[in-house]
Amino acid sequence: MKEKVVIVGGGLAGLTAANFLARTGREVTLFEKSHGLGGRAATTSKNGIHFNLGPHALYRAGQAYRILRELGVEFSGASPKADGSLAIAGGRKHALPSGALSLLTTSLFGLSAKLEAGRLLAALPKVDAQTIQHLTVREWLDREFRQRDVRQLVQAFFRLGSYVNDPERQSAGAALTQFQMALKEAVVYLDGGWRTLVEGLRAKAEAAGVKICSSVRVAKIERDQPTNRVIGVRLADGTMQAASSVIVAASPKETCELVEGGEKTALGEWARKAIPVKAATLDIALERLPQPQTNFALGIDRPLYLSVHSAAAKLAPAGNAVIHVAMYLESENEAEPMAIQHELEKLLDLVQPGWQALVIDRRFLPNLTVSHALTTAEQGGNTGRPGPEVPGIEGLYVAGDWVGAEGLLVDASVASGKRAAQLVATQPINQFAVAAA
Ligand SMILES: Cc1cc2nc3c(=O)[nH]c(=O)nc-3n(C[C@H](O)[C@H](O)[C@H](O)COP(=O)(O)OP(=O)(O)OC[C@H]3O[C@@H](n4cnc5c(N)ncnc54)[C@H](O)[C@@H]3O)c2cc1C
Repeated sequence: MKEKVVIVGGGLAGLTAANFLARTGREVTLFEKSHGLGGRAATTSKNGIHFNLGPHALYRAGQAYRILRELGVEFSGASPKADGSLAIAGGRKHALPSGALSLLTTSLFGLSAKLEAGRLLAALPKVDAQTIQHLTVREWLDREFRQRDVRQLVQAFFRLGSYVNDPERQSAGAALTQFQMALKEAVVYLDGGWRTLVEGLRAKAEAAGVKICSSVRVAKIERDQPTNRVIGVRLADGTMQAASSVIVAASPKETCELVEGGEKTALGEWARKAIPVKAATLDIALERLPQPQTNFALGIDRPLYLSVHSAAAKLAPAGNAVIHVAMYLESENEAEPMAIQHELEKLLDLVQPGWQALVIDRRFLPNLTVSHALTTAEQGGNTGRPGPEVPGIEGLYVAGDWVGAEGLLVDASVASGKRAAQLVATQPINQFAVAAA
C-alpha cells in the first residue's frame, strides 16, 4: 500500500511540496479551504486586466525561480527598466540613484551624500551578509553610513526588497541578502500575473497524481496517543483522512490552532513570536498612462512604492496600464485606511497626474499580510527561522514564508515546501498510519 501524505494549504508552498512528494510515489492529497488555489499568489482577471494581490515581483536569482523551473513550470515575463525611475522625498520628484549617471544628476541630495552613496552602491554587492544577520537594519545603517540621506536611501531599498518597514527589528543580513539578489539579477514581472505559477504547479501536481480538494478546510491534526505521532487530519465536516505525514503550509497561528494543545508546543512559541509583515495596496487599471515614460517611483522619506507592472509584463490589453501602488506598513501600524488610501492617491497624482479620469478598475486593500513573520536580528536572521520539522510531533512539518533558512517571501515558501517534502521522503514509513488507512 502506498504511504499517504496530506498537505494543508494550496498556496505556492503547499503546491510545491505536493509536486515533490508526488514524484516520490506517495499518495498525496492537498486540501485548500478557499474556492480557488494560490493563496496570496492568486491573480484576479477581468476584461483582460490581471491584478495580482498587490505588487508581485519574482527574484530571478531566488529559490522560487530556480525550483519552479526545476519542476518544469512554465512562465514568462520581463524585468522593469530602471530608466526614468523616481525617488520621492519631501513630496517632490527626484531621479532615483540606481547607477552612476542618476547618482550624479539627482537632486535627491548634495555632493557629500552623493560621494558616500557612490561608495555605497559600489560596495553593497560585496558585503558579506552572513556577518550581519544578528544586527538590526538600524544598527547596521548607523554603523556604516555617516549621512542621514544615504541611510534613508538604503532603508528605502531594503523596504523595496523585503517589504519590511521595521528597521529596529529586521535583520540587516536578511535585508541585504535580498537586496543583493536584486542587484545581481533584476526581478521579473510575470505575464498574466502570478496565477500562471499557481496554474502551472496545479497542472504538474495533478499530472503526477496529486488529489487536490479545494473548498475543504482541515480542522485538526490527528495524533496517536501516547506516541504523539501524526496519523491524519480531521476535515471540517468531521471526516478523517489518514496520513503518515502532514505538511501544513499555512500561517503559524493557523498551524498552531490545528493541533490540540498546540499553544504548549513549539508551534505555540512560533505563533507568539511571529511578527507579520504588512502592506496596503492600491491596484489600478488605466485606459492609458498619462506619463508613459515614468514607470517607477520609490518613497525615500515615506514608505511608498509605485510601479507600472504592465510596462514590463502582459497584464492588460495593448495601451491599457496596470499600476500597483503600495505602502509598507509598520509592524504596529495604527494608520487609518482612509489616510493611507489618500496618501497612495497623492503619490499617483504626483507621478501620473490626470490618472483619475482614466480609471478602468481599482482596488484598495488596506491591510495585507505579505509575509507571516519578519526575519529578526534577534533570531539571528534567516538561519533562526523555525521548521520544517515540528519538534515533539513526529510526522508533522510546516512550510511557508516564515519557515526554514532559505530566502524571504515566496522564495522561503517554495524552498521550505521543497525541503518539507524531502524530509517526509526520508522518513521511515509510519506503520501505524498505514494500518489505519
Ligand atoms: C501585497 C503583497 C505583495 C507581495 N509581493 C511579493 C513579491 O514581490 N515577491 C515575493 O517573492 N513575494 C511577494 N509576496 C509574498 C508572496 O505572495 C507569499 O510569500 C506567498 O505567496 C506565500 O505562499 P504560501 O503558500 O506560503 O502561503 P499562502 O499563499 O498564504 O497560502 C496558504 C494557503 O493555506 C490555506 N489554508 C490555511 N489554513 C487552511 C486549512 N485549515 N485548511 C485548508 N487550507 C488552509 C489558505 O487558504 C491559503 O490558500 C507578496 C504578498 C503580498 C500580500
